[in-house]
Amino acid sequence: LSAFDVSSVRADFPALHQEVNGHPLIFLDNAATTQKPQAVIDATSHFYAKDNSNIHRAAYALAERATAAFESGREKVREFLGAADKHEIIFVRGTTEGINLVAQTYGRKHIGQGDEIILTELEHHANIVPWQLLAEQTGAVIKVIPINDRGELILDEFVRLLGPKTKIVSVAHVSNSLGTVNPVETIIQIAHGRGVPVLVDGAQSTPHLPVNVQALDADFYVFSGHKVFGPTGIGAVYGKTQWLETLPPYQGGGHMIRDVRFEKTVFQHPPEKFEAGTPDIAGVVGLGSAIDYLFKVGIPSIAAYEHSLLEYATSALSTIPGLQPIGTATNKASVLSFVIPGIPNENIAKHLDRHGIAVRAGHHCALPAIRHFGLESSVRPSLAFYNTREDVDTLVSVLHRLPRK
Ligand code: PMP
Repeated sequence: LSAFDVSSVRADFPALHQEVNGHPLIFLDNAATTQKPQAVIDATSHFYAKDNSNIHRAAYALAERATAAFESGREKVREFLGAADKHEIIFVRGTTEGINLVAQTYGRKHIGQGDEIILTELEHHANIVPWQLLAEQTGAVIKVIPINDRGELILDEFVRLLGPKTKIVSVAHVSNSLGTVNPVETIIQIAHGRGVPVLVDGAQSTPHLPVNVQALDADFYVFSGHKVFGPTGIGAVYGKTQWLETLPPYQGGGHMIRDVRFEKTVFQHPPEKFEAGTPDIAGVVGLGSAIDYLFKVGIPSIAAYEHSLLEYATSALSTIPGLQPIGTATNKASVLSFVIPGIPNENIAKHLDRHGIAVRAGHHCALPAIRHFGLESSVRPSLAFYNTREDVDTLVSVLHRLPRK
């Protein structure tokens, strides 16, 4: 592997090269969304400029090009996730829609009154609310794996919660509010030992770590394009063939049928069975280009670079008087949540913005995780591979100049 060259990757991201409030932008809100390399912007605009057509339906040149581009995006996602077969990849709007798709299709077929769904205390609301909606529809019950005060899952509790009524486990690979990297491989092994399938929310793992759904043996794995340097409005669900072939469709409409009569409709095979209507074709093209870009830079080198940047930032932030890190797991990625008691989180974020530094202050759509620490919100810088030690140094020096009274 070649050494990671951060200045050369930074040159690929036009949004990083601008001033905000008279300062060079330092973008540290990567857990919310990521900036796009020029290649993604070009691929998307090239699609609209030259290849735009609906897919799968017509036999003219543009439709063929659009269909080929769309299906090659599916193949890229397959490779990105390490899936065995591209028919195991379903395009959706993002992680949120992906989890709703699994909850509703798996749930309709396999979950009933009194059945149990296991989640964790550190989930994003997107991996809580869809299961609550399902529980309301079916009479199922939600059980929650607690975290310790470092923000790590307590696996003994997981083993205790697993029972004969457990029908699915749904867990984030990486927490968006604390940065904890969860031992999903172990969780999957334990669950499979009891015959229970596992959905992994990969929204925060895919931007930072190599993922291989076959090595993990995940049943479902979901992520968002916009968090992996691709467009908004596109994401994917990986589902093992055995599940996709037996689950009912999610939404009904065009594209997902083989035959329609008022008496009976015959559905397509997966993945089309789960892709009703015209998809975000340009989004898939952009996502494919983002994946090409990540492969070119090298995901293992990205992970190694970010790991050392996170360690550097963690120790640099510890020099700020009164700063309390939230989430101090041994195994973390990207996220540096903190509070400074006595200073409102919004004031900290606004002070940083006045210096061109973009961070989020809030509950990060993970209220139960934040409340574990007796808080309603935190300040959350989050790193991507285009961030530098200089970004961290500036963050820390601007925090040292925080007005306190
Ligand atoms: N899960 C996690 C862990 C996330 O970080 C996010 C986005 N913040 C989501 C789910 C939801 O993703 P999206 O809004 O792209 O659907």
